[in-house]
Formats: sequence, structure tokens, C-alpha cells
Amino acid sequence: MQIQPAVEEMIVSNQELAFRALALAARDCDACPRMRGRRRVLGAGSGAIRARTLFVAEAPGRLGAEMSGIPLHGDQTGKNFERLLAAVGLRREDVFITNAVLCNPQSPSGTNDKPTRAEIVECNHFLSETIAVVDPALVIALGVSALAALSRVERHGLTLRLHLARPTRWFDRHLAALYHPSPRTRVFRSFGEQVDDLARCLQSSVSTGP
Ligand code: SF4
Repeated sequence: MQIQPAVEEMIVSNQELAFRALALAARDCDACPRMRGRRRVLGAGSGAIRARTLFVAEAPGRLGAEMSGIPLHGDQTGKNFERLLAAVGLRREDVFITNAVLCNPQSPSGTNDKPTRAEIVECNHFLSETIAVVDPALVIALGVSALAALSRVERHGLTLRLHLARPTRWFDRHLAALYHPSPRTRVFRSFGEQVDDLARCLQSSVSTGP
């Protein structure tokens, strides 16, 4: 009985070491030409490496994670996301947050751009390894880029139109689809509906079990 805490500590430590190695590898990655000089957003600010729930968004925002180093933090999208978390009683330190790509893609004029298919492919091993290290029970895709990236990690048939906020078994965990929490989403999905969507994901993945 007495060795249990020591064993647990060792497991946590191995998980932390694996995560640090992954973050260091990301920091040195130069696979995507237009990401040169951008921040690789994966590190202590990403959340709890033992989190039960892992969110995947699209990409670090120019005025958000690119500046703060914290996924979904520092811009209007980050504020929306943090309000959503608070509305369901979660704190950032309860969850883990990452993106389909770890760097901020910008258009030639310097605005936020969508990641290209090639960038999503290049970055996919970081997403896959992050999920393996954190080992969450529930992965929540925030938007279509996240769904596309997660389909490369393990194939799934989820779409926002047909499977919104309906967690589905996805190998040895659950996967759910939600809209990206950008200000644009409020045009067709109210803040209250987005809170209900998130609450339903969290609740259904608990009731359907591990
Ligand atoms: S987006 Fe991913 S694969 Fe591309 S340079 Fe950044 S860390 Fe590397």
C-alpha cells in the first residue's frame, strides 16, 4: 500500500517528461515555411497534462496565443472561450487546450488565416502525440479545422451539422464536435446555445462511461 504514492509520482513524472520533450520538439520545428519566426504554442500555458477533457481549436490567433503563448487566450475568441468554460464551472487549469496547428498562420497582409491542408498534415504528429501524452477521456473539436486534423489522428465521421455536441466513441475515448468560439459564431449560435452545447458534451461523455 505504501509504495502507491511513489508509483503515482513516477507516472506523473514520466508524463511530464514526455510533454516537455514534445514541447521542445515543437519549439525547434521549422516544417512550415510561413510559420518561421512565429511562436510554437505548446507548453505550461496549454493546461493540465492530466486533464480529462482536451480541446482542439484551429490555430493560435495573431492577437491571442501568438502574443500570450496561451491557447485561446488574449483576444476576443479567447474571452468567449473563457466565458464558456466559466459558465459550465470549469477553469483553464482543469482542461488542456491545443490547436490543429501550433503556429499562427497569417495572410500576406498580416491578418489571421486558416491553416492550409499541408500545414495541418505537417503538424498532425504533434496533435497525435499530445493526445497520447495527456490521454484525455474526452476530446472536443472546436470547428471544422479541428475535426479535419483529428480525423488524421484517428478516422471519425463527425460533422458539425450532424453531430453537434453529441460525443461519440472514438477508439479508447470520446470525441465531440462544437463550433469554434470565435465572435463570428455568435451570428448563428447564441452564447447561451454554445454553453448548452458544451454542457451537453461534458454530461453525455460522463453518462456513456469510459
Ligand atoms: S505549424 Fe506545426 S508543423 Fe508547422 S512549423 Fe509550426 S509546429 Fe511545425
